[in-house]
Amino acid sequence: MEIARASTLFCITAFALMVVATAPGLAKMKTNQIQIAYVLPKDRDLMKVYEDVKERRVLERLKEFLSPFKLPRPVKFTFRGCDGEDDAFYFEDDVTVCYELVDELQWTKPKKTTSDGVAPHDAVAGPFFSAALHEFAHAFFDLHNTPLFGREEDAADQFAAYIILLLDNEVASRLVRGTAYSFQTESKEQKSASTIEFASEHGTAEQRYYNIFCLAYGADPINFSDLKSKNILPDDRGELCQDEFEQIEDAYNAVILPHVDQSLAEKVWGKLEVRTK
Ligand SMILES: [Zn+2]
Repeated sequence: MEIARASTLFCITAFALMVVATAPGLAKMKTNQIQIAYVLPKDRDLMKVYEDVKERRVLERLKEFLSPFKLPRPVKFTFRGCDGEDDAFYFEDDVTVCYELVDELQWTKPKKTTSDGVAPHDAVAGPFFSAALHEFAHAFFDLHNTPLFGREEDAADQFAAYIILLLDNEVASRLVRGTAYSFQTESKEQKSASTIEFASEHGTAEQRYYNIFCLAYGADPINFSDLKSKNILPDDRGELCQDEFEQIEDAYNAVILPHVDQSLAEKVWGKLEVRTK
């Protein structure tokens, strides 16, 4: 009888300890949780992209940039060939970035700096970095069980834009404009959005173009004053952008910031440089 009671008590205690140990809020959160890999592409046409991103240490730099975020377990970024899909996606602690995505951005970048000031390199670095941050946002939301109102795809775009807007003015301007350029290119390719785009979990490319510009203008109306003066952002939307940005800022401060090592962020986020060529 005594032995049975003792063993029941042991089971209850062990179960309680297990629950405590696995409760998401109590899991040990750590910085420097990004792992990386470059997988050799099967498609020979992608070898140049593979060599280029490896030589530029793209994932090593991304790993450092994301190091201040505290996570309960590692998230792995892998560059690989995706059988022709120019995509990036998150699934179960893994972010896949397709070489085809970089290849497509190289094809669609402008030949020279556009009249809106988008340099060819910005049209690759901006959307690549936005996509990487967007996928990291999915990972972060998943690993932290982050409560979200609205579509996760919109929240991931907002997370990515917000982080970019925390950076140095010039870097932020170039990354935002480069990202918007790629949404504009995608939207022109689509001509008018079809049922598939309207039914998608993502906003349409044209909506994402206006969304990132609105947050940028809301964050820094001086750095992005041309969006208003050149009428790129319609007045009806433009007058809401400061409120939209502050809404994202409040959400970031409440749910993301407690999981950021701020002294590490100051160190690594201040270092980000975007090449001029
Ligand atoms: Zn997404």
